[in-house]
Amino acid sequence: MIKRILFLMLLAAVSVQVYAQQSDADKKKLARLNALHKHNKAVAESDKQWLALEIAKLTSNEMHGRGYVKNGRDSAGIYILKRFKEMRLKPVVAGGGYAQGFAFPVNTFPGKMELTVNKTVMVPGADFIIDASSPSFIAQDLKIKRLDVGKVEDTAAWAALVKTFTPDHAYYLKNVDDLCKDVLEIKESEFSALLPKGCFLIPEEKLTWTVSRDTIPATVFYVHKDALPKKLKKINVNDSAVYLPHAHSENIIATVPGAVKDTYIVYTAHYDHLGMMGDATAFPGASDNASGVALMLYLARFYTLHRPPHYSIMFIAFAGEEAGLMGSEFYTAHPFVPLNQIKFLTNIDIMGDATDGITVVNATKFPNQFELLKEINEAEHYVPKIISRGTAANSDHYYFTNAGVPSFFVYSDGGKGYYHDIYDKTSELSLNNVVNVAHLLTDFARAINVADKIGDTTSVTDTTHGLMNTPEAGNPGEEKPKNDTVPVPPATDTPADKVRAE
Ligand SMILES: [Zn+2]
Repeated sequence: MIKRILFLMLLAAVSVQVYAQQSDADKKKLARLNALHKHNKAVAESDKQWLALEIAKLTSNEMHGRGYVKNGRDSAGIYILKRFKEMRLKPVVAGGGYAQGFAFPVNTFPGKMELTVNKTVMVPGADFIIDASSPSFIAQDLKIKRLDVGKVEDTAAWAALVKTFTPDHAYYLKNVDDLCKDVLEIKESEFSALLPKGCFLIPEEKLTWTVSRDTIPATVFYVHKDALPKKLKKINVNDSAVYLPHAHSENIIATVPGAVKDTYIVYTAHYDHLGMMGDATAFPGASDNASGVALMLYLARFYTLHRPPHYSIMFIAFAGEEAGLMGSEFYTAHPFVPLNQIKFLTNIDIMGDATDGITVVNATKFPNQFELLKEINEAEHYVPKIISRGTAANSDHYYFTNAGVPSFFVYSDGGKGYYHDIYDKTSELSLNNVVNVAHLLTDFARAINVADKIGDTTSVTDTTHGLMNTPEAGNPGEEKPKNDTVPVPPATDTPADKVRAE
């Protein structure tokens, strides 16, 4: 019995000892984990700051909203090219350039943008925006006629009303949405083209500007409801529009060569935005799409800092997206390397706040790749949620998808949702989880390197055309960048009124 008690005491002592040792080990482990966690947090925080600096640069005054006034888009393109070169990215075609020039028509507002209602001076961007297709218009003391076009009963009555409009008055048109929906059966965005030469005011709750490749006869101002005085008497207008039939733009393209030279993982993001509405009002476009360009630059840095990837990585900064996907349309018609050498393409547009996660356009078109992306996210907890969406012609992935390139368009969910307005500023972006989105994308790219990770052979594996095994097949050197020529693409019906991420 005593032996047994002694044995039990000994066992207890040993247990306490072991427990103490384990506890020490655990403490050390915990301390190590804490340090690692702190380190990771610090890295994530500094990476976030890195992104914020890139976005701040792309939205700075010298970029003029990255549009067609004061050559804002050129400044942005030059900056991105400089960053690519600093990171030692290579031209996609050996001996070739990084830029791909092209041109398209665009209506611009480089001069005055003045609107005074009664005696109240309206602030451009905050109180009003001009229809992007409008021409110049100068008038003093125009009497305002108030019309409730929601009461127009049929198209004949509308046609009769249009005949009464003259440039000698300004017209305040109420309930245009009802007229478009119930009588004209058109989208509201198509309405301004129906108006004759003259000045029109349309009240709006949210001012969302665009870029237009067309002009219309009428000068139309969308005025914020809260900005208008109650009694509308007269207005002064002075806006100056300049239509550029051949506005030159450049896609900026670079690569980090991988072990497999002629198969590419591609990341794209458009760098153009709306530019300026008059000589004093720039649309910064922090979320759309300085944030996506910053993430693309972050990915470029990631791939240059790490050992060479398996497949080559290609980065394309597109121009002309806001004018109707002009840059990606041109690139897919004139690719630097054949499109079938793209293993997978991820287009990034609107990446300023992933607090709620991301949405993936084309998820239902490429379900296996989407599953893979989700699996990675579930294992690593990068973002809280990944929402699946079908196909949509709402960003630069569109022409690639049409050309048979496996592709996603990824945008972030969260934040204040400023979009195509003067409030889309760097200071409004949280950048929550955005660095994690980059990790998710690089993990995803690594996973699709292992082709058999995708059970299905219809999309990813087939589109490689076995190039993985035959690096000689397809000679990228044959396809020269069309740097010297500036062809003007025909004014096709590109999806200008894009279905946006609501
Ligand atoms: Zn965009």
